Amino acid sequence: MSDHKIETKCIQSGYEPGNGEPRVLPIYQSTTYRYTSGEHLAKLFDLEASGHMYTRISNPTVDAVENKIADLEGGVGAMCTSSGQAANFIAIFNIASAGDNFLCLTSIYGGSVNLFGVTMKRMGIEARFITPDVPDEEIEKLIDDRTRCIFGETIANPALKVFDIERYANLAHKYNMPLIVDNTFATPVFCRPFEFGADIVTHSTTKYMDGQATVVGGVIVDSGNFDWEAAGKYPELTEPDDSYHGVVYTKQFGNAAYITKARTQLMRDLGATPQPLAVFLLNQGLGSLHVRVERHFKNAMAVAEYLEKHDMVESVSFPSLPSSPDYELTKKYLPNGSCGVISFVIKGGRETAMKFMDSLELAEIVVHVADARTSVLHPASTTHRQLTDEQLIDCGISPGLIRFSVGIENIDDIIADIDKAFSKIK
Ligand SMILES: *Cc1c(COP(=O)(O)O)cnc(C)c1O
Repeated sequence: MSDHKIETKCIQSGYEPGNGEPRVLPIYQSTTYRYTSGEHLAKLFDLEASGHMYTRISNPTVDAVENKIADLEGGVGAMCTSSGQAANFIAIFNIASAGDNFLCLTSIYGGSVNLFGVTMKRMGIEARFITPDVPDEEIEKLIDDRTRCIFGETIANPALKVFDIERYANLAHKYNMPLIVDNTFATPVFCRPFEFGADIVTHSTTKYMDGQATVVGGVIVDSGNFDWEAAGKYPELTEPDDSYHGVVYTKQFGNAAYITKARTQLMRDLGATPQPLAVFLLNQGLGSLHVRVERHFKNAMAVAEYLEKHDMVESVSFPSLPSSPDYELTKKYLPNGSCGVISFVIKGGRETAMKFMDSLELAEIVVHVADARTSVLHPASTTHRQLTDEQLIDCGISPGLIRFSVGIENIDDIIADIDKAFSKIK
């Protein structure tokens, strides 16, 4: 980890060219690597030497960006994946097998709910969902000797609930398990979950990290802090791996055991590898991450304050508003800013919400969130359109709920656009 501040890390970390080498991280568009002796290559295959072997497992461009992200989060190592979905899957599958279970918050991203609740269930791994506000005693009833980790999102997408990282880290550690935190919406600029006791961090880099809506990607970061041997219940890390001549990850790789296994075993076998070009583009985004998220947040705060005062708005949900039920958690975990995504309920329900959305010009209707352009989505008429109003309310979505991803355009233009849309539907 470098001593630099986060802004400097966004630009400088991960790649340091030698004398006469390109200043900009090159795209190593090569699947393969040359060695002058067969013996050296054999050592790579036995994990006894370090070096690139095949791009499914590692690549110099990807490696540099992984080092940057590890430095941003304050971890010992990182592994980029082809998507955020792949990152969350591998993060859990790395320490859970058929017959195991794990706990996760109900408010997490819908894609993760499907992955954990449906697809991983078919693999024999059970996700036990918990609502954020239940007392510890209730949660502890769900923990047994096959419970492998707890999973939550710093700021849940799209519920925008703030995760009490320290509370869940303490709870996980009480039962000798790691806490995994999906830090996509907060980014390491606004929150570094390891500082509050989280052990593993994941991201969909598709969102703010890339920031331009150009590349789908994910990353897993290992804090190096979790003691797998002391926990005594992670044989996949502390007992010999037959697929590598009996390597014991904790013995050979110390506090980088988890992330090394994720790469050398699961990335080797599952192949959810990002392309070097995609990771190069991600790095372009990372170079301005600190500047962008500050502006996203500032603009979102202004939009939230504007909406809160508007007489056609029933309620606004944004963690940094003093009226937010999560305001205390926000002050603790996200003191300098939260994100650019807000949601609000328009008076008049489904019909009015659709009319409002269609009346916007600058804010575009897209399914994506968290990129430079202001965008809007009305779940009741898109992602959740099969549901009746009653069913929507049951899953916590008001028919008039609008999700707004505030971009980094000029704030006056964004508010003027919203203002005009309101006057059109009056
Ligand atoms: C988008 C998202 C994901 C899934 O990432 P993809 O890159 O779309 O695969 C996971 N978690 C959160 C919080 C997200 O917002």
